[in-house]
Amino acid sequence: DAELEAEDDDDLAPRPPVVTVMGHVDHGKTKLLDAIRSTDVVADEAGGITQAIGAYQVRTVHEGEDRAITFIDTPGHEAFTAMRARGAQVTDIAILVVAADDGVMPQTIEALNHAQAAGVPIVVAVNKIDKEGANPDKVMQQLTEYNLVAEQYGGDTMFVQISALKRQGIDDLLEAVLLTADAALDLRANPDKDARGVAIEAHLDKGRGPVATVLVQSGTLRVGDAIVAGNGFGRVRAMLDEHGKPVEEATPSRPVLVLGLTAVPGAGDTFLVAPDDRTARQIAERRESAARAASLAKRRKRISLEDLNEALAAGKVETLNLILKGDGSGSVEALEDALLGIEVSDDVELRIIHRGVGAITQNDVNLATVDNAVIIGFNVRPAERVAELAEREGIDMRYYSVIYQAIDDVEQALRGLLKPEFEEVQLGTAEVREVFRSSKFGNIAGSLVRSGTIRRNSKARVTRDGVVVGNDLTIESLRRFKDDATEVRDGFECGIGLGSFNDIKEGDVIETYEMREKPRA
Ligand code: GDP
Repeated sequence: DAELEAEDDDDLAPRPPVVTVMGHVDHGKTKLLDAIRSTDVVADEAGGITQAIGAYQVRTVHEGEDRAITFIDTPGHEAFTAMRARGAQVTDIAILVVAADDGVMPQTIEALNHAQAAGVPIVVAVNKIDKEGANPDKVMQQLTEYNLVAEQYGGDTMFVQISALKRQGIDDLLEAVLLTADAALDLRANPDKDARGVAIEAHLDKGRGPVATVLVQSGTLRVGDAIVAGNGFGRVRAMLDEHGKPVEEATPSRPVLVLGLTAVPGAGDTFLVAPDDRTARQIAERRESAARAASLAKRRKRISLEDLNEALAAGKVETLNLILKGDGSGSVEALEDALLGIEVSDDVELRIIHRGVGAITQNDVNLATVDNAVIIGFNVRPAERVAELAEREGIDMRYYSVIYQAIDDVEQALRGLLKPEFEEVQLGTAEVREVFRSSKFGNIAGSLVRSGTIRRNSKARVTRDGVVVGNDLTIESLRRFKDDATEVRDGFECGIGLGSFNDIKEGDVIETYEMREKPRA
């Protein structure tokens, strides 16, 4: 594969680090990106960074040297992992923003899990130190638990205190990014060849047609180059930098706005320069059919607890990656502890790459896709579209409401004993529209059947915002208007009685299922 061609060491030149800003909502990611933009030493003469571009580069003086840093302008780990799911790793370093008055929050942990899963070094920006109640030491202590140990505690993570609002500490932060890059990474690329890289953001502009922010990762991109981006192709008509200034060429780590494509690539799609238009078109066509084939092949490649043992025996996997989601931090911790307590043989590793509270999100599925993980939901469920995505990606997603059952399954999978005889088969889902209190029948949930069929006497559970609030229930009564019904299909309304379960609320989702014997492979 040409993408993996070896580079001669002599051809490699240093390139700037590419940085993504992550952290909990409202901890100041956007403000920080604004503040960094305004520190750029060339911004003044060029009139500031005004261009709407998905990434920008700033220059700073570091140890007497003029250095550049590239920032991805979409904050957050969601975009980061969505890009990784498409096969693109653009980020070299993550800045983890933690508000000093708020401390470590759920998305702080989520963000650092995502960065660590990608093997991306983290620089911690302790933000909002101007605020009363700011406690930067506490942040430092809290993060020790997550393997981010400050230098003053003997670790190798740099913590920088900043105020994005007052634009204090920004230079120190840029300094820390460069120090971390120089210490931990060997960032070099060959500028003397046809360019390759990744589309960061793209859209259709009314006047200019498809417009893409691309990040050059190797080689040099020039105006006039024939280019393939995603499944589209074209010729670079013009390139603009973050100041809106036309540029003739772009070297590694440089983001530019490219005009002249015939289609809008997706964020995370790779681009490359072809020798001529014809070849560009051919590559684009080949990519399209390859993408189709890959999406078919992908399903078979994903890990599942069932095939784990065979895969382990064949030496195809050494690690079982798990993502844990649960309905409370206590249950997630208990589950994690119990899982990590499973004794496994020396050649197998059990890794929990992410844990969190709440429904299973698109983000979780993306992470499972990238790191080939099994998702375990403890009393939680995915949202509808998330379930579809997981299905398409072939992710093994398992739901439990009893901890020891989850432990049993994972343990047996690791030991080659997993032979589940029954599996849960979904029959249908209904959304609760209105709740009627009836003294005779208990509560009746006036519902709209959203998918499949609701059958009387089948098993059921109730979820609220993706979290299971009622388990192991039975559809004890089912009515269409005033009549008893044995089943009601999707698109129809009905009244559902769940026996002793009386906590039903408007907006809840009733899932029905039955247990069926699993076909043997
Ligand atoms: P994001 O959700 O992480 O992108 O957070 P924003 O950048 O939108 O910031 C959230 C809020 O915190 C805004 O009201 C900011 O003005 C405020 N904020 C951000 N940085 C600072 C800071 O350093 N000090 C103070 N006092 N407020 C800040």
